[in-house]
Amino acid sequence: MKPWQWILSSMVLAIIVGAVINITCVVSMEPDLEFNRVGSSLIAVFDYIGTIFMKLLKMIIVPLVFTSIVVGIAGLGKTAGFARLGGKTIAYYAMTSLIAILVGLTVVNVFKPGLVDGKPNEAILKQISDNKDAYADKISTKLAGQDGGFDAVTNLFIRMIPENVFEAFGANNKMLALIFVSLLTGVGLIFISKKGRTSVFGFFEGLNELTLLITRWIMWLAPIGVFGLVAETTAQTGLPILLLLAKYFLVVAAALLIHLLVVMPLVLKFVAGVNPLKHFYAMRNALLTAFSTASSSATLPITMSSLKENAGVSERVTSFVLPLGATVNMDGTALYECVAVMFVAQVLGFDMSFGTQFTVVILALLTSVGVAGVPSASLVAITIIVYNVGIPNAEAVIGLILAVDRPLDMTRTAVNVFSDSCGAVVVAKSEGESVLEDWKEDVPEIGGD
Ligand code: ASP
Repeated sequence: MKPWQWILSSMVLAIIVGAVINITCVVSMEPDLEFNRVGSSLIAVFDYIGTIFMKLLKMIIVPLVFTSIVVGIAGLGKTAGFARLGGKTIAYYAMTSLIAILVGLTVVNVFKPGLVDGKPNEAILKQISDNKDAYADKISTKLAGQDGGFDAVTNLFIRMIPENVFEAFGANNKMLALIFVSLLTGVGLIFISKKGRTSVFGFFEGLNELTLLITRWIMWLAPIGVFGLVAETTAQTGLPILLLLAKYFLVVAAALLIHLLVVMPLVLKFVAGVNPLKHFYAMRNALLTAFSTASSSATLPITMSSLKENAGVSERVTSFVLPLGATVNMDGTALYECVAVMFVAQVLGFDMSFGTQFTVVILALLTSVGVAGVPSASLVAITIIVYNVGIPNAEAVIGLILAVDRPLDMTRTAVNVFSDSCGAVVVAKSEGESVLEDWKEDVPEIGGD
């Protein structure tokens, strides 16, 4: 079996194992203490495995992003063309996020998941009023300390500059600062003396090769890590709430799939002029990792190596478009924010005029830029939008959707990551690169000559 087939098989196995645990141990109609104890011990083991895999991925992000950007820029030896590259990238991000939001808005208006026969869904309302305080508490605990609202957008440039260069290397959520410091270093290297450039550049080039190799090693553990993450999620997703919110769940999933399987392939075909199937195949490992981790940031190392090694996109484009994309371009998240806000309004019987829906579109576009690439991060943005359009008493509804957030988060993260990768292909093709010329298999060797 090929590596991606291992990952896919372990994901399927994890769903089966997780579902069995869910049904027998966690949500059985007559909970048996012994069973519940077995269930929670197994969940703890899955969590342990999943956490190790996530930490390994996160561990490699900082050196990978730094060395890729430095090598991508300084390797070319010229600064001409960067403004053009930046312009195209931002235009792509804005356009595709807007399209994603409009897809979500259309689907939620057609299917109205919060209503039954034109009226707010009574069963959902009852569930909320019975557990009002618990849901409101859940959401406030989740929001505490999370970043990602308007402040995150308006302070974009402030967040970009670290107090101290080393701060940029300190934590994964300092991605913008890391990109800024890397860009400065890459551009600066072009202007220093040849002697200085050669030694520093050679060092970073070697380091970059090393981080890619370590990424490949980490991917060997992906089948096990993915098993832990997916089994834990499946075992813990509350079945009764999932059934109660089934229509909402299906509407979100359908809208995300339309964006992933219709809009993105059309962009690839008609804007970039490449075969969408080849691109899906090239990004297979990244898609599976994004789905299991629900974090675009943790997936970044795999997205970068898949694009370079399988799709053949240059270091220059990959290193510029992807780290930025993982932080600011979130099509799936933007779409989800819009659907979730509309759902909250429907459940609470709040009238959403055309003007208010327009406001939701703009706010979803802006806040998706500030949302961090970590699990459940969009809940902050949803709370902010709901508050800004003036929907009263919405905390409990948001708390309720938090209960089924993880599977939807996994799907929207896969969409986020895929859109970033399509952006890199679009930009690379427009720069005259030849990408996706053939069907590349995973690189099997350990690396080096
Ligand atoms: N989990 C998403 C990501 O990492 C963000 C979100 O929508 O919550 O891309």
